[in-house]
Amino acid sequence: MKAIVYERPDVISVRERALRPLQPNEVLIKVSSCGVCGTDVHIVKGESRSTPPVVLGHEYCGVVEELGSAVSTFVRGQLVAVDPNISCGICYFCRRGEVHLCPKLQALGVDIDGGMAEYCIVPVQQLFPLPENFPKDAGAFIEPVSCVLHGIDRAMIKTGDSVVILGSGTIGLMMLQLVRAAGASKIIVIEPTEKKRKIADTFGANVVLDPTDSDVLTAVMDLTGVGADVVIECVGRTATAQNALDLARRGGTVEYFGVCPVGHTFPLEPNKVFYKELTIVGSFVNPFTFERAITALSSGIISIDAFPVTRFGLDDFREALRYQEEGLTIKSIIEPNRS
Ligand SMILES: [Zn+2]
Ligand SMILES: [Zn+2]
Repeated sequence: MKAIVYERPDVISVRERALRPLQPNEVLIKVSSCGVCGTDVHIVKGESRSTPPVVLGHEYCGVVEELGSAVSTFVRGQLVAVDPNISCGICYFCRRGEVHLCPKLQALGVDIDGGMAEYCIVPVQQLFPLPENFPKDAGAFIEPVSCVLHGIDRAMIKTGDSVVILGSGTIGLMMLQLVRAAGASKIIVIEPTEKKRKIADTFGANVVLDPTDSDVLTAVMDLTGVGADVVIECVGRTATAQNALDLARRGGTVEYFGVCPVGHTFPLEPNKVFYKELTIVGSFVNPFTFERAITALSSGIISIDAFPVTRFGLDDFREALRYQEEGLTIKSIIEPNRS
């Protein structure tokens, strides 16, 4: 079968890769669509813990093609999505229900062959059935939505809260919809790209600010009086991570959701955290939120209709990655079996 293989930093190839026989608890999936995301960009640049050679792709859905001998819960032809994060189940963290913090956590498309291929072998416990009328293209959004849902849980937004979202790329826009669903009264989105600001506007942001032509700190103070109750960083840059601490009110919460590159730092004044009595939380991947992500997408709580999606075949992977990296689309989607 044909697959996109991360060979080593800055080297990817589209090539034939043999499929091994299924283990009893595995399922062979014919991949329908697979999203490209910032993590893939980091992997290809060699900025991740991924160990090559590996087939990329961790945001995907497909159709059951073949079942391992011990699998009885799925049938051939069934539409399914894949939670790529596999924990060990027996360590300290797993036994406390903190499966995403498992030191042996491995991910399909990062450490194990993933979904940017015609077919993918998946352990059955990672599979989720999709309703038959599940929106087209939404399959590639389930994994990122499941991560954003964990972020919403961690941010502990209360009905009526004011919320600042830094960045309105794919993640920021999903966050915006879920923050609104969580009952925020005032949502302020800060985003330098005009196209993304416009989408944030249509998705129900109350105020959308361009940080390149306005003093966002003054603007947020004017809009809220005291600073935001919750600030969510969805960019993954140290400059915005630092600003987030100023935009939050005394007693407010700052969440780091965007992925800053490993080793990047900024100076933090502990007295500011002390005096403002800030709560700073991180949010990492998607423990037990996959089912809710499917519901959020199929019920329309999150709509992807207004997301400009660009579709590519396997051979166009470099172009798909470039579109994602340069912000030419909100989401690049690979369709490995398109005719
Ligand atoms: Zn991703
Ligand atoms: Zn574990």
